Amino acid sequence: MTVPNKQGFFGQFGGKFVPETLMAALDEFESAYKKVKRDKSFRRELDDILANFVGRPTALSEAPKFAEMCGGFRLFLKREDLNHTGAHKINNAIGQALIAKRMGKQRIIAETGAGQHGVATATACALLGLQCVVYMGEVDMARQELNVFRMRLLGAEVVPVSSGSRTLKDAINEAIRDWVTNVRTTHYIIGSVLGPHPYPMVVRDFQSVIGREALAQLRKRTGKLPDVAIACVGGGSNAIGLFHAMLPHESIRMIGVEAGGRGPELGNHAARFSGGALGVLHGTRSMVLQDEHGQIAETHSISAGLDYPSIGPEHAYLQEIGRVEYHDCSDDLALEAFHKLSESEGIIPALESSHALGWLLRNGASISGDVVVNLSGRGDKDVPTVAAL
Ligand SMILES: *Cc1c(COP(=O)(O)O)cnc(C)c1O
Repeated sequence: MTVPNKQGFFGQFGGKFVPETLMAALDEFESAYKKVKRDKSFRRELDDILANFVGRPTALSEAPKFAEMCGGFRLFLKREDLNHTGAHKINNAIGQALIAKRMGKQRIIAETGAGQHGVATATACALLGLQCVVYMGEVDMARQELNVFRMRLLGAEVVPVSSGSRTLKDAINEAIRDWVTNVRTTHYIIGSVLGPHPYPMVVRDFQSVIGREALAQLRKRTGKLPDVAIACVGGGSNAIGLFHAMLPHESIRMIGVEAGGRGPELGNHAARFSGGALGVLHGTRSMVLQDEHGQIAETHSISAGLDYPSIGPEHAYLQEIGRVEYHDCSDDLALEAFHKLSESEGIIPALESSHALGWLLRNGASISGDVVVNLSGRGDKDVPTVAAL
């Protein structure tokens, strides 16, 4: 298992690169997290909400017809799309909102790209009686109109962000600005394994329920460990959520799939490992897409949830030590997988998750044994995008 050191580094990646004003807030969050980790009543409250509100454990569905199109292996889908609000994001949003409440912070801020994290956070805040403000880039607001309406229905204030590329990274900048100003009353719920320590660790821990459940379910169904585990990687929370409990099992091959977009030219994709370099963005050191002057590059993906120029620091570490492989999948291939899974298995996957499936469509011939893919979310939010294409 990888654990960050005291300063929050996974090897050379991670850390806390933030203005002085936020250091105290990060320390407060970290000690609150350490406290709830030991607190049985917190675990009980969280488990109760996960079971009776979120709908955990999520199903593990075998997908034999899709598997046949890929190659000769057994394929299991971990159905995070069946969570309340339609994706894995709620696992983390509920956990962090519960911590905020215990810290006495009544105001929650969040950023969102696809809108899934914003909806999950707005839902957690409605459930727990917290005020909620969500920052969202104007481009993403247009792409994910329905999620904007959903957040407002749930009582959240959605603040449009019109700076930069008007997508996720700009929304994070605005959320950090808000946090610096209102840090005494406000907790910032980051939606992926990104940002300064302790976020990458906390988000991972709340998402690791995915892999723990998957291993137990596979043990019951097949009597053994999976041979391969695959997940799409935006910031990396659904992937690390699937991988975390599997890391000690060296026989399991693990694959993270990034957005290959329209092609390998900078600006056309969000493949941080093939196209990025070491850098610092939003408080953490990791692989970052940047130009020759170190300016953050524009990114592109058909799926808003993968459209981010950096990747969680633990993934950068896992790649460096060779424990997890990272590949990418193009827009077109993801779209093909989106249609094929829908037609063959009766499951409409999120375009994000379709990247993991697309990689398997193209590369599955060389794989054997049991494969588990994290189906991070449902595709309903993407239907207008796909219809427009
Ligand atoms: C947000 C999102 C992602 C990407 O975020 P990760 O932190 O990389 O998991 C993937 N799939 C869905 C459905 C999402 O909503």
